[in-house]
Amino acid sequence: MIMNHFIEQEQQYCAHNYSPLPVVLTHGKGVYVWDDQDKRYMDMMSAYSAVSFGHSNPRILKALQTQAEKLGVVSRAFYTDQLGRFVAHTCKLTGMDMGLPMNTGAEAVETALKAARKWAYTIKGVEENKAEIIVCDGNFHGRTISIIAFSSEDQYRDGYGPFPPGFVRIPYANSQALLQTITPNTAAFLVEPIQGEGGILVPPKGYLENCAEICRSNNVLLFCDEIQTGLGRTGMLLASQHENVQPDGLMLGKALGGGLLPVSMFLARKDVMEVFKPGDHGSTFGGSPLAAAVGMEALNVLVEDGLIPHAAEMGEYLLQELQRIDSPLIISVRGKGLLTGLEIDTAQVSARDFCLALAENGILSKETHETVIRFAPPLIITRQQIDWAIEQITKTFDQFEYSTRRKVVKA
Ligand SMILES: *Cc1c(COP(=O)(O)O)cnc(C)c1O
Repeated sequence: MIMNHFIEQEQQYCAHNYSPLPVVLTHGKGVYVWDDQDKRYMDMMSAYSAVSFGHSNPRILKALQTQAEKLGVVSRAFYTDQLGRFVAHTCKLTGMDMGLPMNTGAEAVETALKAARKWAYTIKGVEENKAEIIVCDGNFHGRTISIIAFSSEDQYRDGYGPFPPGFVRIPYANSQALLQTITPNTAAFLVEPIQGEGGILVPPKGYLENCAEICRSNNVLLFCDEIQTGLGRTGMLLASQHENVQPDGLMLGKALGGGLLPVSMFLARKDVMEVFKPGDHGSTFGGSPLAAAVGMEALNVLVEDGLIPHAAEMGEYLLQELQRIDSPLIISVRGKGLLTGLEIDTAQVSARDFCLALAENGILSKETHETVIRFAPPLIITRQQIDWAIEQITKTFDQFEYSTRRKVVKA
């Protein structure tokens, strides 16, 4: 793909806060997307898990169309026939008591931060403005000022200060650090059961369970950000269920919008959610009947199409097949369910060059954390489609090995 009109126009008018691969996508169906030259790609990014049900999932599309014709957006100034059943269903599925609908993931996280603080002051009895929230190194919870305030990524923070205080960062996958950091002012521990943007980091078994126990015995809320890991992505409804952990607060997003809309939600125990009184917090679009209908159908598709066990099975297969690729460029392969990452040796090949070559071979993906190539296809992917993907990925490694070997010989 060379420079074309679409790229030039986007480059000229759209802020350069991303550096997209030079591929111009025009339509999608299932696990595939097509570019303006009608070249087909398999989408192994799934928009960071937002497209878990595949592009233009027919059932979710139908729900969107039907609801859009009836009633789209009314704000939360009124009740609708859609919101209650959507939130009730999400609560029942996840074992939470109440939900607060928002749009983007970052908004669900902001909601969680507000809930944690208010709970600390009104229920736990923390002195005004002293509440602390513990987070992890390598976290990714979104891009607002308060969320990046506790990011460990310099680039996410550079030039955006001053930042709100009240956050303490500890090493990930270390429950002892949590125990040592909790003070009487600690409101909540906010954690991703698997760090997605952090590089598909799967903590050792028992980590989340230990954290849950530490939180429980210290009257600290355990908040799990499952915006990326939730809704079947890791082969369970929630990644926290791999350890039988029921968090006190839960953030969902991405796939909750069925690949069509931004739909997110903060869910919590009743006593936590009840800190919010009318007027305390809100969103114009959050919980719109359109979003509720789409989110509801996304959850129905997830369960009724058996996508959770399917993701577990396909994920195991994908991981096994990725692990079988024999290349000196591979440092490690890891993941859970269909959230997998392949760490490459960037001394030999840049992640971006590798993604460009993958695209040439019909696979779309993107690096995370500079060295990890993410392979997180829609959950509907089939074994045959995985086989095809593995062929292309293997071929891409072969091409690079050939060129790096040649370079060595020349030098
Ligand atoms: C993507 C993501 C977010 C932020 O979601 P946005 O919709 O981009 O605001 C928050 N937490 C995690 C774990 C994510 O992966």
